[in-house]
Amino acid sequence: MTSSNAHSPNTQPYTFSQRAQKITSSTIREILKVTERPEIISFAGGLPAAKGFPVDTISAAFERVLSRNGRTALQYGPTEGYAPLREWVTQDLKRVGATDVNINQVLIVSGSQQALDLLGKLFIDPGSKVLVEAPSYLGALQSFSLFEPDYVAVPTDEHGLVPEGLTDERVAGARFIYALPNFQNPTGLTLNLERRKALVKRCAQANVPIIEDDPYGDLRYAGEALPGLLGLGREVGATVIRLGSFSKVLAPGLRLGYIVAPEAIISKLVQIKQATDLHTATLTQMAVYEAIQDGFLNFHLPAVRDIYKEQCGYMLEAMQQFFPADAHWTRPEGGMFIWVTLPEHINAYELLERAIKQNVAFVPGEPFYAGAEPKRNTMRLSFVTVSEERIREGIEILGRLIAETAIS
Ligand code: PMP
Repeated sequence: MTSSNAHSPNTQPYTFSQRAQKITSSTIREILKVTERPEIISFAGGLPAAKGFPVDTISAAFERVLSRNGRTALQYGPTEGYAPLREWVTQDLKRVGATDVNINQVLIVSGSQQALDLLGKLFIDPGSKVLVEAPSYLGALQSFSLFEPDYVAVPTDEHGLVPEGLTDERVAGARFIYALPNFQNPTGLTLNLERRKALVKRCAQANVPIIEDDPYGDLRYAGEALPGLLGLGREVGATVIRLGSFSKVLAPGLRLGYIVAPEAIISKLVQIKQATDLHTATLTQMAVYEAIQDGFLNFHLPAVRDIYKEQCGYMLEAMQQFFPADAHWTRPEGGMFIWVTLPEHINAYELLERAIKQNVAFVPGEPFYAGAEPKRNTMRLSFVTVSEERIREGIEILGRLIAETAIS
């Protein structure tokens, strides 16, 4: 490589892997960079509400661990994770109907985003068929895409994933289906019990593992809790790999989550995680266990749910008042997102460009689609980090822009 080459604007001076070369920076990220400006009312972010972070409890837990057990906490640890925390996970799973999970079926990971990466490494070859909801979580699509799958979209309707859409042709040879049964990101929809049962039954018949990603399940502020796919899957012999996270129940900066799966899958994932980062931070695992072991979440979660419920209410109320009648949106029972379907002729990207000029941002629906024609008239609104006043202001502006588009 000559120095003139290295400085030429048209020549790439490094030879990246083909995999890396295929990653393109997303237009949406470029557009949304502006949302960091303080004057922007951003419904685009996926951040949890920082006012719900239990700073004092976490701080005290770190201090106790360091003073009582500092040398262990600062040492390397097993790839599988800190045993008491894994044991805690097995007990906690009873709440979602999985009663017989043992510690060897639990792997602690550095956030459930890492779980998605490890599972991509485990299951996906270039061209492997991967089933996803349409739309689905963008971060999962980004993780899986590094391994170059062929996405096949499973049909969804206003109640979420349609199990009957898992036709023989669709499921044949699929490496897994990635599903988000509670307050889905991006739609906010929850899969009802009947569909959950139909989904695990169909996947058991077709021998397709299900990845159940459930970071929001504990943030239910309306309706009744439903059993998770893991417990339901056991009843019919389905393979369910469940992903849990402490990001929304405690704080995302901890980077702590877990995978629950049959032992044969966990032991392969352990090998892969070892190569990836040896193990998740020992200190963090010990401190989080210290914080939650005595039932802290039973007190903490209701407070977090109240924040989310209130915020969701502000947004739904404002939408009811300011959005035109031909726009439709979901009414989540938990989580952080509302999904809006605009009249068909409205392109949400164009709407975003106009909205940003008026200092309002959201995420257009298009990037959440893989393996299916995107619905360009959709958008995701996140309601947890914006104040009531700014929610009203932002929704009023959006409502006006949508109505103007409808007339023009
Ligand atoms: N899955 C879903 C559906 C998410 O929304 C998120 C966070 N936005 C993650 C996984 C990743 O969460 P974490 O890595 O913080 O556990």
